[in-house]
Amino acid sequence: MAKDQSHVLIINCGSSSLKFSLFAGEGRTAVVSGLAENLGQPESRLILKENDAKVTIALDGGSHDAALRRLMDSLKERDLLDAIGAVGHRIVHGGERFTKAIRLDTEVLDEIEILSYLAPLHNPANVLGVRVAMEALGWVPHVAVFDTSFHMTIPQAAHAYAIPQAYRDAGVRRYGFHGTSHGFVAKEAVELLGLDPSDHGLVIAHLGNGSSATAVLNGESVDTSMGLTPLEGLVMGTRSGDIDPGAIFHIARQDKLSIDELDTLLNRRSGLLGLSGLSNDCRTLESAATEGHEGAILALDAMVHRLARYIGGLATSLPRLDAVVFTGGIGENSAFVRRKTIARLKVLGIALDDEANGQMFGGRCGVISASGSRTAAAVIATNEEWAIANEARPYIGKAS
Ligand code: AMP
Repeated sequence: MAKDQSHVLIINCGSSSLKFSLFAGEGRTAVVSGLAENLGQPESRLILKENDAKVTIALDGGSHDAALRRLMDSLKERDLLDAIGAVGHRIVHGGERFTKAIRLDTEVLDEIEILSYLAPLHNPANVLGVRVAMEALGWVPHVAVFDTSFHMTIPQAAHAYAIPQAYRDAGVRRYGFHGTSHGFVAKEAVELLGLDPSDHGLVIAHLGNGSSATAVLNGESVDTSMGLTPLEGLVMGTRSGDIDPGAIFHIARQDKLSIDELDTLLNRRSGLLGLSGLSNDCRTLESAATEGHEGAILALDAMVHRLARYIGGLATSLPRLDAVVFTGGIGENSAFVRRKTIARLKVLGIALDDEANGQMFGGRCGVISASGSRTAAAVIATNEEWAIANEARPYIGKAS
């Protein structure tokens, strides 16, 4: 058996990919991380990152189980397999049932599978990842950490859709996502800004390929921009975010689109990509915008407009706004998006320190508001994998 078993393996399983990170003790940087991609296809491969080195291993059409077995072999070669004391699994939808992380067993897994109707693109793949991992690493505790759990404190008035009761009784409500990130960033912000853990108000903007904003009151989520699914809210890479359902009826009637085609249209062909006609990637759009690309300019303007509107709206769920915090690939790296957004937030008393804003990228964290600013603004690098590891670590050594 193991030496110290102080390591936690994090698994985030998609339908054709499997991301992983291995954390040693409480260290915040993964000792090994990477992903297996194109699973089930001829070009499937495992990419392993360790310090600055990157190794690519062909999986020859192998699927999730082949990827995990190969990963375990690689960890064994590095004398790391026996050091694993727990496995943390990222699960997208926990419905109303899972308000916090939970140790996985067949009963819990069945319940997560039942929740697939709420997240048909994500939960089945997550469950597959758990099953494969529980078989391969059967001797350690496996822990499910849900993207939705952090938002289970949102009051009913904020999470209820204005639809008849029968649908609300069937679980059709706003759940919210990116909860692990929002929870982690909220804690870091309290520390960075020297706020009282039991008396603070924050709006956190997690801006990446998927984006959401959350109002956090004294460490708890009280409102968020995403809904039943991660499609509602902000303008995202390829997701539309908010759109009048009437517009969807109109498009469906006009072009005779099926539900699946509408799903693809709004989840994969919209957002920054749909607006710009160019790319879903913020970096690409920023450089195209500087060269005058009209679609790129519109896409960035619309993203910022929606974001500013949401931040302002979310602030109304707080008795006091101490800070707006930016995180995620765009939030952590784009001085441009932060500057444009903060320029729209004068009504909330935020003044930007341009120089500090320009210095925040590549994982740097800090305050970007000017010294006289009534409300602070800050950048905090999220670390969802480490936050999941923190949830799984307490189960190390615990018998089932
Ligand atoms: P994520 O999903 O959190 O990995 O974020 C991905 C998004 O972050 C993409 O739209 C990237 O273009 C964006 N991003 C990463 N680095 C930068 C950067 N330096 N400037 C602007 N956007 C960036």
